[in-house]
Amino acid sequence: MAIRELLYYPDEHLHLSSAPVTEFDESLADLVSDMFETMYHDEGIGLAAPQINIRKRVVVMDIEGDRLPEHQIVLINPEFVSKEGTNSIEEGCLSVPGLRARISRAENVTVKAQNIKGEFFTISATGLQAICIQHEMDHLDGHLFIDYLSAMKKNLYRAKAAKLARERKRAARESQ
Ligand SMILES: [Zn+2]
Repeated sequence: MAIRELLYYPDEHLHLSSAPVTEFDESLADLVSDMFETMYHDEGIGLAAPQINIRKRVVVMDIEGDRLPEHQIVLINPEFVSKEGTNSIEEGCLSVPGLRARISRAENVTVKAQNIKGEFFTISATGLQAICIQHEMDHLDGHLFIDYLSAMKKNLYRAKAAKLARERKRAARESQ
């Protein structure tokens, strides 16, 4: 298991679409375990493969953040079956550090996906879990939650993102 490097906004790779998974092999299992490691390391509750520069339709989530297998969700090639109602919470994103914003989402979602073995299953979710699913599935189509905000808010964040990028660089240099 390894912690992978995250891509950060405004990296253009985050705006690319991801391809469906066709091979349910060991390298997929490795990818999923690395994604969980990376997500827990940065204290996120969800991560999509494009955030670590892998353009495959793979999402991992643990909204409890406690590493219990029964709380870990893996969605491979997920597709919405239904969306109902509206809801919003303050969302954040590991690829957009230091920003939180409310985005209008569906309240209840049902999603069809495959597991790590390629078996199909359906999951229905509400509340935080439903919002997390929508946020992560957006990543697979190259959409970030910041894309929903006004140009002014995006510009404000860009300055902050540049500062955070400089701080990350400095921290990386100092840890060498
Ligand atoms: Zn995100």
